[in-house]
Amino acid sequence: MIMADYGVWLINELSLAASDLLNPSKRVSIWYLVSALFFAFTLFLFRYGKKGIGRLKMLFSWRLWWHPSARVDYGLWLCNRLILSLVFPKVITTLGIVTWLMYQLRELGLSPLPVALPDWSVVGLFSLCYFLLDDFSRFGLHWLMHRWSWLWAFHRVHHSAEVLTPFTVLRTHPVEGLLFYGRSLLVQGALVALFVSVFPGQVSLLMIGGVFVVTYVFNVCGANLRHSPVPISYGKTIERWLISPAQHQLHHSVAVEHYDCNFGVVLSIWDRWFRCFQFGSDQQTLRYGTLSALDQASVIGQYVSPFQSIKIRAKKKTATATESRQDSPLA
Ligand SMILES: [Zn+2]
Ligand SMILES: [Zn+2]
Repeated sequence: MIMADYGVWLINELSLAASDLLNPSKRVSIWYLVSALFFAFTLFLFRYGKKGIGRLKMLFSWRLWWHPSARVDYGLWLCNRLILSLVFPKVITTLGIVTWLMYQLRELGLSPLPVALPDWSVVGLFSLCYFLLDDFSRFGLHWLMHRWSWLWAFHRVHHSAEVLTPFTVLRTHPVEGLLFYGRSLLVQGALVALFVSVFPGQVSLLMIGGVFVVTYVFNVCGANLRHSPVPISYGKTIERWLISPAQHQLHHSVAVEHYDCNFGVVLSIWDRWFRCFQFGSDQQTLRYGTLSALDQASVIGQYVSPFQSIKIRAKKKTATATESRQDSPLA
């Protein structure tokens, strides 16, 4: 690529990033931000009367939107777009995964159902399976990112946010972005391959229509409030099933009693099953970040830090292994 081509590519990618703000399929689109605000406004008005509206004041403060931590969010969002557009594994597509998995399923002897089910029930079943598998796999990968130290090194970038704004959802290391992209390819590929094998001729892209409805409702009703300074609880009954903004904010808290809780995205049942569930509250006051130098790091610092900490960990491991070999009675 010559210099002029790089310029065109850069302008193109940056304008695509800006257009995300108006794209209703993107979580940070202005439509979802406004609808989330309207949702919070209605809920607080209903719960606390006129006084409740004052709780949203923080959302209109420039101190929040121009906080150094929020500025790093914007920087990571734009830089990640540029990096991922260059290195995304374009060769691996859902179609490629579907073809490979269908071959594997045929080898295992999976064949079409002898009786054809009505189209609507196949669509319903596919949407339900897709929603559950997608949500569970997001929970699972997030849980692993907290459990495995080399994955945590990358996920820490998201947790280093000292203030939460809707753009904090995009504050991720590109390695985490790639892992979640791979997860989504696998989930989509596996389900489409399974359904094409069992219900041939009844599977189309329209099938995930039901899932889009769930995602849409989730985005309207507060997905953007998960990363915001306003704690909103759904009440204990709903929080047993759905993760509220207040519950995700607990996940970001630096307090020891909140460590490793509420990994879920939409459903909270996975957190209950894995015994990492905590209720949220409208009254909670939390401090966010990792309490390390990473919280103040620039965009470049955020990119480099995971590799540095993995290198340090690897060095320590080698040193410990050498020491224990020297201490061994057989040495
Ligand atoms: Zn996390
Ligand atoms: Zn988060």
